[in-house]
Amino acid sequence: MTTHVYSFDNGDGKNKMLLGGKGSNLCEMTQIGLNVPPGFVISTAACLEYIAASNKALPAGVMDDVRKEIAALEKKTGKGFGDAKNPLLVSVRSGAAMSMPGMMDTILNLGLNGETLKGLIAQSDNPRFGWDAYRRFIQLFGKVALGIADEKFDEDFEDIKRNAGVKADVGLSAENLEEAAKRFLATVEAETGKPFPTDPFEQLEIAIKAVFNSWMGRRAVDYRREFKITPAMANGTAVNVQTMVFGNLGDDSATGVAFTRYPDTGENKLYGEYLVNAQGEDVVAGIRTPKPVDEMDKEMPEMFKQLVALRNKLEEHYKEVQDFEFTIEKGTLYCLQTRNGKMNAAATVRTSVEMEGEGLLTKGDALMRVAPESLEQLLFPQIDPKSGAKPVAKGLPASPGAAVGIAVFDADRAAQLGRGEGKKVILVREETKPEDIHGFFASEGILTSRGGKTSHAAVVARGMGKACVAGAEGIEVNVQKRVAVIGSHVIEEGDTITINGTTGEVYLGEVPMIDAKFTDELSTLLSWADAEARLKIFANADTPPDAQKARGYGAVGIGLCRTERMFNAKERLPVVVDMIVSETPEERKAALNKLLPMQREDFKGIFKAMSPFPVTIRLLDPPMHEFLPAEFQLMDEIDKLEHLRDTLSGMEVLHDAAPNVAALAAPQTVDAAVKRKETVLKMVRNLHEVNPMLGHRGVRLGISHPEIYEMQIRGILEATAECQKEGIEVHPEIMVPQVGEKKELEFIKAMVDTLQAEIEGTYGVKLTFKFGSMLEVVRACLKSDELAEISEFFSFGTNDLTQAGFSYSREDAENKFLPLYIEKGVLTDNPFEALDQSGVGKLMDIAVKQARAAKDGIKIGICGEHGGHPASIEFVDSIGLTYASCSAPRVPIARLAAAQSKLREGSTKAAAAMASA
Ligand code: PEP
Ligand code: MG
Repeated sequence: MTTHVYSFDNGDGKNKMLLGGKGSNLCEMTQIGLNVPPGFVISTAACLEYIAASNKALPAGVMDDVRKEIAALEKKTGKGFGDAKNPLLVSVRSGAAMSMPGMMDTILNLGLNGETLKGLIAQSDNPRFGWDAYRRFIQLFGKVALGIADEKFDEDFEDIKRNAGVKADVGLSAENLEEAAKRFLATVEAETGKPFPTDPFEQLEIAIKAVFNSWMGRRAVDYRREFKITPAMANGTAVNVQTMVFGNLGDDSATGVAFTRYPDTGENKLYGEYLVNAQGEDVVAGIRTPKPVDEMDKEMPEMFKQLVALRNKLEEHYKEVQDFEFTIEKGTLYCLQTRNGKMNAAATVRTSVEMEGEGLLTKGDALMRVAPESLEQLLFPQIDPKSGAKPVAKGLPASPGAAVGIAVFDADRAAQLGRGEGKKVILVREETKPEDIHGFFASEGILTSRGGKTSHAAVVARGMGKACVAGAEGIEVNVQKRVAVIGSHVIEEGDTITINGTTGEVYLGEVPMIDAKFTDELSTLLSWADAEARLKIFANADTPPDAQKARGYGAVGIGLCRTERMFNAKERLPVVVDMIVSETPEERKAALNKLLPMQREDFKGIFKAMSPFPVTIRLLDPPMHEFLPAEFQLMDEIDKLEHLRDTLSGMEVLHDAAPNVAALAAPQTVDAAVKRKETVLKMVRNLHEVNPMLGHRGVRLGISHPEIYEMQIRGILEATAECQKEGIEVHPEIMVPQVGEKKELEFIKAMVDTLQAEIEGTYGVKLTFKFGSMLEVVRACLKSDELAEISEFFSFGTNDLTQAGFSYSREDAENKFLPLYIEKGVLTDNPFEALDQSGVGKLMDIAVKQARAAKDGIKIGICGEHGGHPASIEFVDSIGLTYASCSAPRVPIARLAAAQSKLREGSTKAAAAMASA
């Protein structure tokens, strides 16, 4: 029979799936010689078996093995489980393969009862400590294992504090704590109808089951759903049973939590908080405000030295920033647990770069450590320093970034207003608890009046990349009244506030924001990414300022300039409408002649902004009716105008009274306006199509109305000629949309050739540019070899290709049936977001292979939305595309994803080579 129970001495430190992150780590820590209190792990497999069992019994043999391991602990520590003289006490903690901070339950001081308590008191010679440990245990066990609401105990405790006339629990005497323990025992009996269990093994069994059950508790299930933690990533929780060590045995004892580096900035300095003569939960719960760990250097210098040595050992071994817990029991430092530190993107980037510099990481490791999507956090808005806004309160800068929203005072309300009504909310609490998690998801930011930088609110907000100000003690939060009071200011629910998680400042009202800037570390990391990656990252940009921005983000080309966006400008639209409604080619030419200089200047601007990188300009793509008003709108306007005309013709008096006004609104003027609207309406009706997405657009328009494409091609080539003459290096690429047949492309190519000859003659330069096609029509993919004969490049338009591949309308599917498809598991992802690799991707692969067989090395890119999606980037890299083009702010994400794709490919190849060797 395989065992479910593993000692820290021999559990597999790498098997997170079986032993959980915490359990496998404790095994690893023990085995690398850190001073870890001894213990053992009960596996996730046991958890799954227990949850599936109908009899609610632990799997066979588990408790026998637990007894054996307890015996081993007794031997190691010289203490006895249930021993009245020298009792062994243990902690019981959850720990799944993925870290889910605060989501599941922990019990401390297990093994205490009336008898063992005497031993603990005698051992420590400290009755206050003994009763404190006991009352804590009864409360935690009562809550976690017996399901008794915290408030039941809180009521008792508050009562005792009130009677004793003390505010904080440190002020309570041994007698007060004894009374607390006794009242808690009575509360348990009253709530459960049974006395509190006294047999340590019975306690342990109930606790193990409770931790297993917490895997299916609401908090844990919500967390997994929100963070998309699938069973393949973490399945069940392990239980860690570990000897208790005490940080509250006097002034030579302490407890704390620390990060090996600053988790908010990444600075290479030990960061943390500790409390002398306290238990770990005091630090995490924010009950007493802890001291910064730097102060330990003065207060306990020898222990501080040991702590720094522990920090170094942890980083050297794990090669990762660690978030660890420690306890000092009468001058001995123990490391209780360590895990990879959850950091925000800025800190992850900084530590990646610095740890590479320190020789802890290779460049490849450094690149793999940063999740591409997380870089979005670095583009968070910050408070505009020029705003001049004055903060009304200051707390700890617990999670950077700024956020604006309306104040709400509990998590349910945050969820209701934030998720339900789509409002921007800031969750304001005295302190947060794990059960507030749904409120975090719904909020822009979190503000608490109590707790440190490692309090629950701070840790969770950082993990989510949400702004958080913690421990703003100048704020009095009254949840019942739904108000927060800051001096003379009263914030009521619904009032707008701004928080700055980077500085800890809190403002009334909405404060102006500015875009975040690239840090030097990010630039360095991305320069490594560029050196590593094979795939180049371009941007989709339609105007010179957009191109400039894209360049700032590190784009090395424009993969798609949608020229129609240039037509939409307010002052241009009437000219475009003129062009569309023209009745003769001459009229149309006249309108196009007005557009030509505008387009030429646009192109020049973009070429200059991107020089010497390539700029791919796509000829007009959408159907013409997209530039015209809707039919119902025109009819409505005509109606109103006609009404006005009738009214005006009946108003003879107006002519005498105000001849100027009357001239302006003369029936003839209105008449002309009606005529114009009617012409446009006629055209709207002419152009109407049942399936516009499959209609008269793209190259079809270019062939039916060649003068439009001629104008655009002329604009591109003249802009090129002018730039070349000015000595600016430009590489324009003319791209034809919606091509499905080679002859279509030949038609446009002929136009290009004619114009090229003319413009080269006029300007006296040899133009350098490329001519190519979008691959966004299924037939184009299947005939890519033929198209390659006259194309110098291709670019996959995966938006249209996905639409065509699935026969899903890209305009409607996402609001109609796609969410249901995903919910029901018909599809795992939205194919307009994550490229459908096995279907649409297969078509792309065929197209690439055929095109390259016809024209070796032909440049092929992607410019659909998928070009900025990390998994899709990895796929297009794997089929050999030359570049991916995405929206400007996603360029950094795409650059990193491209590097990771190459690195992953390298490690897959290395693994395959090892396997076959
Ligand atoms: C596409 O179809 O993927 C594309 C880039 O073009 P558009 O989105 O403009 O149709
Ligand atoms: Mg398209």
